Amino acid sequence: MKVVVIGGGPAGMMAAITASKMQNEVYLLEKNNKLGRKLLITGKGRCNITSSLYMSEFIKNTPGNGRFLYSAFQNYTNKDIIEFLKKQGLEVKEERGNRIFPVTDKSIDVLNCFKKRIDELKIKYKLDTRVEKILIKSNEVLGVRTNKEIIQTDKIILATGGKSYPLTGSTGDGYKIAKDLGHIITPIKPSLVPLEVYEKEACKKLQGLSLRNIGIKIIDGERKKLIYEDFGEMVFTHFGISGPIILSASAHLARYKDIDYLLKKRYVNLSIDLKPALTEEQLDDRILRDFKEFKNKQFKHSLDKLLPQKLIPLIIELSGIDENKRVNEITKTERRRLGQLLKCFTITIKAFRPVEEAIITSGGVNVREINPKTMESKLIKGLYFAGEIIDVDAYTGGFNLQIAYSTGYTAGLLQEN
Ligand code: FAD
Repeated sequence: MKVVVIGGGPAGMMAAITASKMQNEVYLLEKNNKLGRKLLITGKGRCNITSSLYMSEFIKNTPGNGRFLYSAFQNYTNKDIIEFLKKQGLEVKEERGNRIFPVTDKSIDVLNCFKKRIDELKIKYKLDTRVEKILIKSNEVLGVRTNKEIIQTDKIILATGGKSYPLTGSTGDGYKIAKDLGHIITPIKPSLVPLEVYEKEACKKLQGLSLRNIGIKIIDGERKKLIYEDFGEMVFTHFGISGPIILSASAHLARYKDIDYLLKKRYVNLSIDLKPALTEEQLDDRILRDFKEFKNKQFKHSLDKLLPQKLIPLIIELSGIDENKRVNEITKTERRRLGQLLKCFTITIKAFRPVEEAIITSGGVNVREINPKTMESKLIKGLYFAGEIIDVDAYTGGFNLQIAYSTGYTAGLLQEN
């Protein structure tokens, strides 16, 4: 059987390899002059290949339609991708947070494993080939029209990725192609993306400051509802906030009801607990101890042990305590207020950074229109989807690439609905 795979990212490459292993004649079409451009920049050039967690945990780490991936995750697991890389000669290692990386710390080595297998299987890949349209007749696939030619085929796997980091080739072409065929594209939003805040000036002053081991809560101020809670690291930037727990929070916010309205109305509050290991009482004792030690100093010189230098001026300002006040003159009420501020330092979230800056795209081809067991379209016979083009998105930690391999593998089996 002749099969055309559109998009040479991890999903498309995996789909092409799988389809080729089953004795199909496979054409892999990629609009860039190289395969796997985005794969190269993953994990800051080191590629967080997958996670070592049980596959059941992958669904929990996929806030965007995780359950749709149940069969795909069973069909092709984290062990399978590790085994695949091993067979091509690449060993992996595990790091903090169950993250799997190549031992070489180089994403290009992961890409080369895919390329090696593609060459071994003699898959015909065409670079600089941009697919413009999928041709159909009576809801069955007929072929594709590229910028160069028309290729006839009755099996197509569409794996053009999302819309983030467009310089890598992921410019959202597939959404238009699928929409022209009658598929619903759910709203495209950034996910795993930094956030802008209303207190931009304050954040600018804190730019570069990284807060480790902090707790965060994101609260819907209108419905008085907790949207997200996490513990870990965040960083201040010139426009607002970023870092691992903020990126994860963005994945939840992207799918939260009426989020655009709530952001506009300043109803989305981020409450930071700077001392999550201490209760309010324990923190008060701790501040009291520091105050005893620095009792003859001015307030502004008493917080060095408690807080990072960069944060001190802002905390002093927000505490309402005169910075020049001598520590032994600070009242109990003032001290308590300082403690509360450290447990509940609040910022108001304004917006997501644009999808172009996001690690992943939330939204895409509606999962209700795809058979989760086969990845075949329920609307067009012979059309399959794989990877980020589908309306699924996961947290950081290797889950998004596993989605690409698992859906790519499943689509590559070319099973019929
Ligand atoms: P893509 O990798 O986007 O590939 C799609 C391909 O299709 C592209 O090569 C594109 O050029 C091609 N294409 C598009 N339109 C056409 C067309 N019309 N005709 C022909 N070809 C076309 N995930 C992890 O799990 N671990 C990580 O460490 C990690 N790090 C990341 C770091 C960054 C900075 C970013 C942006 C993402 C990261 N991700 C990571 C997410 C991961 O890269 C994606 O989930 C994954 O690449 C999606 O694979 P895909 O094959 O679906 O799409």
